[in-house]
Amino acid sequence: MKTQFDYIVVGGGTAGAVVAARLAEQPGVQVALFEAGPSDEGDDAILTLRNWPKLLRTPLDFDYLIEPQVRGNGRIRHARGKMLGGCSSHNSCIAFWPPETDLRTWEAAGAVGWGPEAVRPFINRVKEKVSLEFPEPLNSLGTAFLKAAEQAGFPVLYFDRDPVAPGVGWFMLNKKGHVRHSSSVAYLHPLAQWDGRIQFYTNCFVRQILLDGRRAVGVLTPDGPVFAEREIILCCGAFDTPKLLMLSGIGPGEHLQEVGIEVQHHLPGIGQNLLDHPEGVVNWEATRPVPQETTQLWELGLFAFTQPGLDAPDLMFHFGTEPFDMNTAPEGYPTTTNGFALTPNVTRAKSQGTVRLRSANPADPPRIDFAYFTDPAGHDEQVMVAGIKLARELAEQPALKQWIKQELSPGPAVQTDEAILAYVRRTANTVYHPAGTCKMGAAGDETAVVDPHLRVYGLENLRIADASIFPTMIGVNPNLTCFVIGERCADFLSGE
Ligand SMILES: Cc1cc2nc3c(=O)[nH]c(=O)nc-3n(C[C@H](O)[C@H](O)[C@H](O)COP(=O)(O)OP(=O)(O)OC[C@H]3O[C@@H](n4cnc5c(N)ncnc54)[C@H](O)[C@@H]3O)c2cc1C
Repeated sequence: MKTQFDYIVVGGGTAGAVVAARLAEQPGVQVALFEAGPSDEGDDAILTLRNWPKLLRTPLDFDYLIEPQVRGNGRIRHARGKMLGGCSSHNSCIAFWPPETDLRTWEAAGAVGWGPEAVRPFINRVKEKVSLEFPEPLNSLGTAFLKAAEQAGFPVLYFDRDPVAPGVGWFMLNKKGHVRHSSSVAYLHPLAQWDGRIQFYTNCFVRQILLDGRRAVGVLTPDGPVFAEREIILCCGAFDTPKLLMLSGIGPGEHLQEVGIEVQHHLPGIGQNLLDHPEGVVNWEATRPVPQETTQLWELGLFAFTQPGLDAPDLMFHFGTEPFDMNTAPEGYPTTTNGFALTPNVTRAKSQGTVRLRSANPADPPRIDFAYFTDPAGHDEQVMVAGIKLARELAEQPALKQWIKQELSPGPAVQTDEAILAYVRRTANTVYHPAGTCKMGAAGDETAVVDPHLRVYGLENLRIADASIFPTMIGVNPNLTCFVIGERCADFLSGE
C-alpha cells in the first residue's frame, strides 16, 4: 500500500467526494481518499433514486441508535450512508441552496466570509456539476396537496428561483432521470478517470489521526499508517468527524479522560452543538388507491410561519405519498398500506445535543444524544404543535379532503396541545439532518472547532469539511450546502 500523498481526505461522502475531486484536478497533486463503505459505481440499488428507503438499516447504513431522550423519542434510528457519496448516495435528493438568511446568521456567529455574496461563486461551481430537475407533476395526490395548500392561502413557489418563504411547491431534486446525482456521481464517476491522482481506499475505516506535536501528519488505517505531506481533511459527517477527532485525543479533555484516551489537544467544542430538524407526522388512510407515479415518494414541500415577525419560515412540511409509520406503528397507532403523510419539521430547532465516545474502541458507535425538545423556552415543541395543527387544516381543504378516509395518527381523539405534545414526544422522527458538532466560529469563541477557513483551531494541516461545521442549523434540507462546503474547502486549500 502506498503510504505518502499530498492530501488525505477521510470520508468519501457528500463533501469529501467534492474535496477530493477538486484537489486532484490540480496538476501533479496526489490524493488518498479513505471511505468506510464500498464504491457506488455501477450499483443500481444505490443509484436508483426511488430505491432510497430500501437502503435504510442495511450494511450501507451506519444506522445509529440514539441515547434515551428526556422529552423526545429515544427509538429514533439515524441513517447515515456508508459508501462513496455518503448520505448523498442514500438520501431522497431534495435540493435546496443555503438560504441567504442562514448565511447571514453564520457570518454574525463568527463565520466571517460566509455571507451570501462570498458563498455565491461556490454555489455556481456546484451548479456546473450537479444535475437539478423537478419531478414531473404526475402524481394526482401530490397535485391535490398542492391545490389544498393554495386553498389554505399558500402561494405556489418554484424552489429553483423563489427565495424560501411561506408557500408550497414541488421539490427540486439532484437527479438525472431516475438516477441520483450524488456527489460521487457528479464529481467522481467514472472512478477510473482519477488513475494516479486519487487513490480510492474503499471499505477502509480510519481509526485515528496521527499528530507530530501540533501538526497532523497522517491517519491510522486497518492496514497501517498513511501520511500526507500537505493536509488532512476530515469529511466523515456530523457523527463520525467528532468521533474520529476524539479517538485521536482531540476534543473535550475531561470526556477523553473518562474513556481512557490521552488528551493530545483539548478542544471543548468538539461533539457539542448537535443540531437537527426534528420531525412530527400526521398519517391518513386514503379513500382510493394512492398513485404510484413518483420519483422518490416525497416530492412536495411547504414552508410556513407559526408566528408573525419572523425573518424566515420556522416550519417546513414534506408531503409523502406513503404512510410514514416507522415510529407510530411501534407505539400502537393504526396504520395502512394505502395512505399518505405530512411531516412538519422545526426548521431552526433550538435544542442542542452532544456526540460523545462510548469507549476508546473505534468499532463502537458514538454516543449520540440530541436532547430533542429540551430548549428552555419550549420553542421546538411550540412549532411542532403548530405544525400538527396546520397539517390538519391543510387536510380539511376540499382538494385533499376527498382523499381522506380517516386520520390514523395522532387520530381524532388527540386534540389538546398537551395531547398533541405527548404524541409528538412518543413518535417524533428526524429528517436525518444532524449538523453542528465541529462548528465554525471566530477565534475568541471557545466552542468553535474550525476557523472560517475550516482549519481546526490549535492544530496545523487539519481541516474539516462536512455538515459538522454548520454554526447554526439552516432552514432547508442541507445536502447541497455540504457540496458547497466541499467546494469552499478545496478552494481554500488550493489558494493557500
Ligand atoms: C435517509 C436520508 C435522507 C436524506 N434526505 C435528504 C434530502 O432529500 N435532501 C437533503 O438536502 N438532505 C438529505 N439528507 C441529509 C444529507 O444527505 C446530509 O446532511 C449530507 O449528505 C451530509 O453530508 P456530509 O458530507 O456531512 O456527510 P456524509 O455524506 O454522511 O459523508 C460522510 C462519509 O464519511 C464516511 N466515513 C465516516 N467515518 C469514516 C471513517 N472513520 N473512515 C472513513 N470513512 C468514514 C462515511 O461512510 C460517509 O461516506 C438525508 C440524509 C439521510 C440519511
